[in-house]
Amino acid sequence: MTTTLTNQEIYERIYAAISERRLLPGTKLSEERLAQTFRTHRSRIREVLMRLSQEMVIELHPNRGAFVSCPTPRDLQDVFDMRRALERAIVAQLTERYGGQPVVALRSHIQSEDEARASGDRATLARLTGEFHVRLAAITENRMFSDTLRRLSALTSLAIAQYDALATSACPPHEHADLVAAIEQGDVKRAERLMLEHLNHVEQGIQQPASEPAELDFDEIFQLAPRKTAAPARRSSRSKR
Ligand SMILES: [Zn+2]
Repeated sequence: MTTTLTNQEIYERIYAAISERRLLPGTKLSEERLAQTFRTHRSRIREVLMRLSQEMVIELHPNRGAFVSCPTPRDLQDVFDMRRALERAIVAQLTERYGGQPVVALRSHIQSEDEARASGDRATLARLTGEFHVRLAAITENRMFSDTLRRLSALTSLAIAQYDALATSACPPHEHADLVAAIEQGDVKRAERLMLEHLNHVEQGIQQPASEPAELDFDEIFQLAPRKTAAPARRSSRSKR
């Protein structure tokens, strides 16, 4: 299954691994190792890394290679300033459009979050709470909104990984459900206020610096089938639970 991955697919695998905090800030992304992992040429990996660096989720250093970005406190503040402006506009638009009716896509998403929370599946919950925001943007059907939010969401994940590695979920319980209720009630002011409060809570929840990244198993991180000669799978201390 791994022999025919396109550049886009490789890009998406790496992007997802960063967004879902399977690759942590400061991790070196060796072209050679990635080429081996994805069974492709280094030139293709280089193209993908270039694109990821344009999206600011990795940093390229001339002589040292590529590393997962380490957002500074200032970067984090900038990301949240941008998210407050953008997501306030997103919920205002959604409330004007959908007020007075149930928004099925959002309700089913909240249900999935509740199920993950109830079963104690914190990794899934962390992924779902991040996706909630991306989904809100997607429902506006404004590609500028959704592309920008996806990027900001990935940068937020990096900041969470860097400053609060022990918290596997950044979104407090109930706040998404309250937000959906305000949208469905058509209450623009309340939806805007709840979103701003929610983003403040998420930002405040990201604080302590994380410890050093552990040794990584790229096959596991990118969810590829292990090679026949591969050593026994080694799990980092952060993977799951
Ligand atoms: Zn949230």
